[in-house]
Amino acid sequence: MELNFHFTDKRTEQIGTMYCIGRNYAQHAKELGNAIPDEPIVFLKPPSAYLANGSEFSIPPFSKSVHHEVELVVVLGSDCYKITPEEAKDCIAGVGIGLDLTLRDVQTKAKEKGLPWAVAKGFAGSAPISDIVPINLVNQNINNLEIELYINGELIQKGNTNEMERTVEELISYLSTIFILRKNDLIFTGTPSGVGEIKSNDKLKASLVGYSTLNISVL
Ligand code: ZN
Repeated sequence: MELNFHFTDKRTEQIGTMYCIGRNYAQHAKELGNAIPDEPIVFLKPPSAYLANGSEFSIPPFSKSVHHEVELVVVLGSDCYKITPEEAKDCIAGVGIGLDLTLRDVQTKAKEKGLPWAVAKGFAGSAPISDIVPINLVNQNINNLEIELYINGELIQKGNTNEMERTVEELISYLSTIFILRKNDLIFTGTPSGVGEIKSNDKLKASLVGYSTLNISVL
């Protein structure tokens, strides 16, 4: 499975591990009744969960509540382990917009029982991601980018990466103290407030404003 880079750079890259960060926006943590954690909450999606721009998404039969979470997605351009936030800047290959699709009912049960989130977060199709914009074409601080989600033309989620509790570089540095990060791994950096259910026939349009757009149809 390959990830497209766009604009002047038509490379495609194999997709690596997807690291996802929970509760990185205070307003979203609050809306689900969660505290901001002392350390980032980390969970994974398998590379095969990737859904390309323009794809159709099928709601899995084992959930009655699929939630959208629009998020800045960062692609790593090199392997890194135990690096500082300053060093992390050099590891970023590009950015895009993604949806951390979540089976909220399955996740709520898992939370209650203290069980893992693998099913709720890593099921097939749970990671739609736009084409990736190479970092040299992003002429703004990536910690000050607007992200939006429209459903059927209506603005549903809106945030700015400057609202994140931890910057992209801090997240990469933190992850690199635990995991051996590799070129083409992806990081979902957390969602702003406004999460909610998606329904059959919804048209989802997520945007990294000014840079990249993701269109997904719900079957
Ligand atoms: Zn998320």
